Amino acid sequence: MHEYEHGRYDLLVVGSANADLVIGVERRPAPGETVLGSDLAVHPGGKGANQAVAAARLGAGAALLARVGDDAHGRLLLESQRAAGVDTAGVLVGGAPTGVALITVDPSGDNSIVVSPGANARLTPQDVRAAGSLLAAARVVSVQLEIPLETVAEVARTVSSDTRFVLNPSPPAPLPEQVLAVCDPLVVNEHEALFILGGTAGDTPEDRARGLLALGPRSVVVTLGAAGALVADSRTGDLVRVPSPKVDAVDTTGAGDAFTAALAWRLGRGEGLLEAAEFAVQVGAAAVTRKGAQDSFPTADEVSAL
Ligand code: ATP
Repeated sequence: MHEYEHGRYDLLVVGSANADLVIGVERRPAPGETVLGSDLAVHPGGKGANQAVAAARLGAGAALLARVGDDAHGRLLLESQRAAGVDTAGVLVGGAPTGVALITVDPSGDNSIVVSPGANARLTPQDVRAAGSLLAAARVVSVQLEIPLETVAEVARTVSSDTRFVLNPSPPAPLPEQVLAVCDPLVVNEHEALFILGGTAGDTPEDRARGLLALGPRSVVVTLGAAGALVADSRTGDLVRVPSPKVDAVDTTGAGDAFTAALAWRLGRGEGLLEAAEFAVQVGAAAVTRKGAQDSFPTADEVSAL
């Protein structure tokens, strides 16, 4: 019997799991050229896997619905989820190689990335239907767009009215009305907000939040990097800025994933959107004080100490 059959999860993340393969280079090769780089570093990543680990590290009862390959990268990802305390009963294995991000980093710190979605692209609507009991056991379901859009749409269709649906549309893509309508909240950074709004974006984050709300979600959170976040709720009419604590930022990789996981978890605990966002900016800020993605995610004690 799986753990989730004993009760409800705070958070189910439906999303991607990637192995991040990182090599430092002096400069990138021109076509036809070979250059030598640093030793290879392999890190567990992917937005879905990151969010599940971030939530579990904070103390959430978290589960992941994802697909990895039957290979060493898949085992690395499963291991990192289990080490953080994530329930991996919903992680499907096989069908394609584990998703990989090939990352070169130059001396100025700029990344160039090639992603092979691999098994992430094979997480199907049928997989979502087969995981019905896992979905029904979650108070909050958090989804991103590194899996097929039809799979995201199936999750949006399947969630019951007492399960909250949180969507971070990253990487940004046009969203069906039926998906937008159940988002509570839609969590976007400024780049994603601009993509979704296109020419109608407006000048301020407040304009953008109002524009996004007009597309149908029940609530919207716009993350603003060091400035924190903006919360907009169609039920209360709230449009409130939540400042981030000031920290020395070392590496912002994974900040958005840490923020969204923290927000979704606190919503699952029954907090209001504003209160959950006040906690999430602290978690996002803590995550930027350390290098890496999953390695940078704080425990609840580390957030309190901030
Ligand atoms: P990323 O792509 O780097 O993971 P993102 O672009 O999705 O992040 P951001 O808006 O940059 O999202 O950051 C998410 C949250 O992380 C912010 O709302 C904030 O709480 C926190 N954060 C990010 N950068 C900083 C910073 N320099 N100082 C303090 N908090 C930060």
